[in-house]
Amino acid sequence: MKLLEYQGKEVFHRYGIPVEKCHVLKSVSELKNMPDDLGYPVVVKAQVHVGGRGKAGGVKLAHNHEEMETYFKEIMGMTIKGEKVEIVCVTQAVNIEKEFYLSIVLDRENNGFTLMASGEGGMEIEQVAKESPEKILFLHINPLIGLLPYHAREVGFFLNIPKENISALSKIILKLYTLFRENDLTLAEINPLVITPKGDFYAIDSKMIIDDNAMIRHKDWEAYRTLSGDEKIEHEAKEKGLSYIKLDGNVGCIVNGAGLAMATMDLIKKYGGNPANFLDVGGSSRPQKMIDAIEIITRDKNVKSIFINIFGGITRCDDIAKGLLQAIKKINIELPIVIRLTGTNEKEGKALLEGTSLHTVSSMKEGAQLSIKLAKGV
Ligand code: GDP
Ligand code: MN
Repeated sequence: MKLLEYQGKEVFHRYGIPVEKCHVLKSVSELKNMPDDLGYPVVVKAQVHVGGRGKAGGVKLAHNHEEMETYFKEIMGMTIKGEKVEIVCVTQAVNIEKEFYLSIVLDRENNGFTLMASGEGGMEIEQVAKESPEKILFLHINPLIGLLPYHAREVGFFLNIPKENISALSKIILKLYTLFRENDLTLAEINPLVITPKGDFYAIDSKMIIDDNAMIRHKDWEAYRTLSGDEKIEHEAKEKGLSYIKLDGNVGCIVNGAGLAMATMDLIKKYGGNPANFLDVGGSSRPQKMIDAIEIITRDKNVKSIFINIFGGITRCDDIAKGLLQAIKKINIELPIVIRLTGTNEKEGKALLEGTSLHTVSSMKEGAQLSIKLAKGV
């Protein structure tokens, strides 16, 4: 689960990491509740789960009340990378001397955690990593030993922080590690962490991801749950008995069983394509599931072809075929559909599909290759 900036800052505040207070507004009418003595300049910020809000016009500096209102109305309701802004936060602007990047991530490959720090704050860290990786400090943290004060000081030296400010920075780093561990996070990021001309540090942005598998230990987090656009669809799919995860490719996949779904995605990749989603319709084969699956997949406008890969066991191939024909009748699908049916009632299933516009194939390989080709429009 991802937290919004203001939610993450609440957590920072609880752990003693300095932040400016966020005034959180959920509609234009709430503007009248804003105190007159806000103390300008303020920053008006869109609260969405995607990054790069600044570049997209979702972060604006306002020097007086009128400007604040104007920016607020501009930002509320705008769409950033496909996510509609429904919450806006107004916070006192921090006077910035220099911006830094600081994060801790769960690092499965190294059986521990990795702290990352860079003097290139405010930039997207992926870009820094690509162009000048030497500007990032990667510090491995052994979970059995934890993050020690000398590690934190090492970060300060790497960032060329003046000696007199190293201790303040170290405290922030140690607190970040404590909150990372206590809350079972997979990511805690401050980008940027800034130092003011007076030498005070502030976290002016926050990004936190909580390990969903640990939610049971943090029931109070549920109150923080706000779903991003993609998550809303994933949630809706779950309620319909489908496991759906949206990805960036253009070949939609409908598969029964998580393992087969993974194998199908691998195969699409292997032959040079890109899956648009993971979708497991599960064991039963109620026709309605097929209708729901197609309906959900086709909401993603990147999808250019659909590959249905069914291994009939409990799931019966004829039920899948029936559902599919109903779905096609109900929702007008113009996309090419490739289908591979094998297993229980395969013959009956295939017979039902004969004479339709569906592309029936007999192997996964053939199905993957054909759906990639069709997605390219050739
Ligand atoms: P992001 O674009 O989604 O990462 O949003 P951020 O909260 O990181 O803000 C983007 C940029 O806006 C920062 O890197 C700063 O340069 C600027 N910014 C944000 N908050 C403040 C602030 O309080 N004072 C000043 N001077 N600039 C700010
Ligand atoms: Mn940021």
